[in-house]
Amino acid sequence: MTISELVERQKAAFLNGVNRSYDVRRKHLKTLKKLVLENEHLLIDALNSDFGKPYSEAYITEIFLVLQEIDVQIRNLRTWMKPIAIKPTVTTFPSKNFINKQPYGTVLIIGAWNYPVHLTLLPLAGALAAGNTVVLKPSELTQAVSNLLNKLVEKYFDTDVITVIEGGPQKTAELLGQPFDKFFFTGSPKVGKIVMKAAAEKLIPVTLELGGKCPVIIHEDAPPETTAKRVWLGKCANAGQTCIAPDFILVHEKLEEKFVQESREALKQFFSGDYIPGENYTRIISIHHFDRLVNLLEGSEVIFGGSTNRENRFIEPALIKAGWDDEIMQDEIFGPLLPMITYNDVNEVIRELQKRPSPLALYIFTNDEELQQRVMDEVPFGGGCINEAPFHTFNPALPFGGAGNSGMGSYHGKYSFDAFSRKQSILKKPFWPDTDIRYMPYDDKKIAWFKRLFS
Ligand code: NAD
Repeated sequence: MTISELVERQKAAFLNGVNRSYDVRRKHLKTLKKLVLENEHLLIDALNSDFGKPYSEAYITEIFLVLQEIDVQIRNLRTWMKPIAIKPTVTTFPSKNFINKQPYGTVLIIGAWNYPVHLTLLPLAGALAAGNTVVLKPSELTQAVSNLLNKLVEKYFDTDVITVIEGGPQKTAELLGQPFDKFFFTGSPKVGKIVMKAAAEKLIPVTLELGGKCPVIIHEDAPPETTAKRVWLGKCANAGQTCIAPDFILVHEKLEEKFVQESREALKQFFSGDYIPGENYTRIISIHHFDRLVNLLEGSEVIFGGSTNRENRFIEPALIKAGWDDEIMQDEIFGPLLPMITYNDVNEVIRELQKRPSPLALYIFTNDEELQQRVMDEVPFGGGCINEAPFHTFNPALPFGGAGNSGMGSYHGKYSFDAFSRKQSILKKPFWPDTDIRYMPYDDKKIAWFKRLFS
């Protein structure tokens, strides 16, 4: 079957109501849960074979988060599907007014490689709950996961409901040309623009989950030990290849020495100096990305860490002394290198951040509530944490998405259901009563009456 035949079939199935009822949607979600539970080990093995993602990380950030999301969708499905009743106004009285949540139709979900199970199956749960038919396009860089998802989806689902299409940019371009009803894309801002252009051609909605450089502000009152542990936990997960990983840190100069010392301690505690790719630490995804990161490392002033092994695609976490104009401060790092800029005036930090593209996440460590509020109000970013790093994504009741360059739209929990639903406003009127005053011809008397009624 060609791609265009497949999309036509999915569209026809959608119009025939294949996913319309509550029961069918619930069944699909339960099947998705079964697919994950029955194949948990195969999925984790595939993640390990693609880039050495350790078992614990794979379980928590991919399997657990997907299962949590499916459960949230199942639990709330009936409520979320219900139309929302709206009070009529004087002009619409007597009538019933309500908002239906209609699925878009046939949607395309394109995933990135860094969390290849999570970034495909988590939005899929929302798309199925909302009643869509779905084409999934996992990243070609995680080939084992992509192959496995393809096989599993084929085994557990009807092709008319969900299909996986594998491939890289060329295949994605072909998919973007098909008559989908919505694109949901996770990836870089560069490819996000390609996706948005294709959506503009068809005038269909898009959700763009993109990346950026996520800052961490560490103010002078932050406790250095806990702060260092939380920052490095966020940075070391997936070897820094996380869209919401701390990208760089801004440390008050009074805290610099203590923070560096506690950073060494934190890493010693996490790994005891023994990084074992595939067991306790993730590999860099490809030689291309390994060489890119090594290049950044070589041009930097390394405070500690940064040993490398090309054969193993291993890069040790490294703390780097940096300035705003350094090469490492230009693009998203997406690896275990952590540039540190020191400051003595937090106003300057806010001004610098305002000049830069809006990040997907921002983290601030301080008990100064005025400063916390200022940063939230004055620096645009998608979401973040106060005195914590990247855990805001773990609560499915919080919408997850970017701002400006880091994306548009959001998902997770109810926000996923909404991301894949169109609001349809309905006014339902009885045939009786029916007054002539509503109808033409409109004379001065009628307008005077209307004005009296509404003034
Ligand atoms: P990417 O943009 O290179 O690729 C994403 C998807 O687009 C892949 O499926 C790929 O096959 C496809 N693609 C790549 N080039 C294409 C082209 N020229 N035309 C059409 N399709 C193309 O991103 P990536 O390298 O897979 O992931 C890293 C990026 O994703 C980072 O910027 C990261 O911050 C971001 N990201 C964001 C989130 C989020 O939730 N906001 C999550 C993970 C990753």
